Amino acid sequence: MIAVPLLDRPRYALSPIMRLSQILIQTLREDPADAEIPSHKLLARAGFIVKTAAGIYTYSPLMWRVMKKFAQIVREELDREGANEVMLPIMQPKELWQASGRWDRYVNEGIMFTLKDRKGSDMCLGPTHEEVMTDFVSSQVNSYKQMPVNCYQIQDKFRDEIRPRFGLMRAREFSMMDAYSFDADTKALDVAYQKMRSAYCRIFERCGVEYTVVQADSGAIGGAGSEEFMVIADSGEDAILFCRESGYAANVEKATSRLPEAPDGGEVAAMEKHETPDVKTVAQLEAFFPTWQAGRMAKTILYKATWTDEEKFVAVMMRGDLDVNEVKLINAIDALSVELASEEELKKATGAEVGFAGPVGLSEDILLLADKSLKDRSNLLCGCNETNYHSLNVNLGRDTRMPEFHELRTARAGEGDPKSGAPLEEARGIEVGHIFKLGTKYSEAMGATFMGQNGKPTPFVMGCYGIGVSRTPASAVEQHHDEKGIVWPIEIAPFECVVAFLDKKRDEQKELAAKIYEDLQQAGVDVCFDDRPMSPGAKFKDHELMGMPVQVFIGRNAGEGRVELLVRQGMDKVECSADEVRAKVLSALGR
Ligand code: ATP
Ligand code: MG
Repeated sequence: MIAVPLLDRPRYALSPIMRLSQILIQTLREDPADAEIPSHKLLARAGFIVKTAAGIYTYSPLMWRVMKKFAQIVREELDREGANEVMLPIMQPKELWQASGRWDRYVNEGIMFTLKDRKGSDMCLGPTHEEVMTDFVSSQVNSYKQMPVNCYQIQDKFRDEIRPRFGLMRAREFSMMDAYSFDADTKALDVAYQKMRSAYCRIFERCGVEYTVVQADSGAIGGAGSEEFMVIADSGEDAILFCRESGYAANVEKATSRLPEAPDGGEVAAMEKHETPDVKTVAQLEAFFPTWQAGRMAKTILYKATWTDEEKFVAVMMRGDLDVNEVKLINAIDALSVELASEEELKKATGAEVGFAGPVGLSEDILLLADKSLKDRSNLLCGCNETNYHSLNVNLGRDTRMPEFHELRTARAGEGDPKSGAPLEEARGIEVGHIFKLGTKYSEAMGATFMGQNGKPTPFVMGCYGIGVSRTPASAVEQHHDEKGIVWPIEIAPFECVVAFLDKKRDEQKELAAKIYEDLQQAGVDVCFDDRPMSPGAKFKDHELMGMPVQVFIGRNAGEGRVELLVRQGMDKVECSADEVRAKVLSALGR
């Protein structure tokens, strides 16, 4: 056998002839009834995904090529940073999740698929792998000398999402790259985190999506580092606030802003109770008390908060012109979750109908919190826990218990950036990646330690990192499509180029097409050969929909050696001679 040096080999020359007649392709005329956003409609119509059950999809051969190409980009960039690819079990024992303290929470939330084996032992299908990875790495790494360590896998995750929708965007079984770093101290974690951050930037740049990195909520774990990689798209489920001037960008769950001004309350005055029949909302109160603007009101919202071993009502006071951010609330009280109290619960807890809750005379059993916007404010307008009454000139601490103050408000577009004061703008984003400094949360809970430099057992300092391997290509479609179909970015297109003859009865067309196909393959182009016996119109339509970046059609002028070259992005068509095709295709592919 003659050894061919790897580097001289054209990238795809060793692939077999990629005949579309032999690849399962079934494009559809109609969008599926449940498809709401372009990527779901187009991926289904172009035959890339087929629904098996709610939130569970089969990837057709072309989609699987896309996924493999994206996964390859992920692998190359992570390997470059010294990460190890491993494969962890999908099925996990309850014991590991009990050790980390997460079993009950995940089961109660209903997000985790659980099952029992024949002996009756509880198992789950991994929604994430912190536990298994911590268990694995701590069995392998005993000393600080063996670190840094970073392991990742690309595997299906299982989450029983409340609202599976948008095709691959929010599925119940989906492909994820999850990586976990293990270091001896927080300084080393910072280094590991930055390496992953730059690998992520390269990954999303290479796959041709427009993305932005935003500060993200890091939940009850706290810590400085949690950032999300967002693909900007109108259909995104996340809201992002950003400032062009300062570069600030954050998920609205985390975002903060300069506090908008509100009219002053003036000299402390005596509290007055007023009858306010059927006046419940801030807008109705503004109409009823024309000299009291929303900024002088404090609304009180009752939540039911859940902790591991307790459930309790929490009353949250918020300036009338602002809104509560539930993620900030959860973090402030370190709860597992919060939910608005029902009408019934509110009535029982406060003695009043919805619209009249307030801090005055509120039961001692209810935790009382207030947003910082209400600190040191005089003479507020509040509900007083009596149906059809409100009080004017309420002064916190004098007429009420003193609430605990936290930043609990939702930042909004138009408000000032926290640093520069320049206005924040809002955009929608799709979370395609998340990087996170975990610290010692899991290692401490699970007793995962190594021998430190001081000779003592020390818990690993961890980071975790995720990328949606099925969600990212769908996001690429969300950004790159037109009214005719998908426009795949070159790096993750199922094929870079398609060569198609138009009339199956004309040998000169078939021969020229085969020659061009071979020539392109020789040139290292990832090319396929459309030899399907279809009408020219049907072929054009299929390729518009499937979105291969460069398309070469061999038709009527094949006898004169003329062919048509189409660049899917912009649908630019040129006629050229067969001799020029190779150069033109390579140039369209940016080579
Ligand atoms: P989301 O906020 O969208 O529910 P998450 O924060 O729960 O996501 P992570 O646990 O951070 O998700 O998972 C890492 C990555 O996996 C996400 O950034 C996203 O790209 C992808 N992902 C998460 N949930 C799904 C899902 N249901 N379907 C497809 N991809 C998902
Ligand atoms: Mg996330």
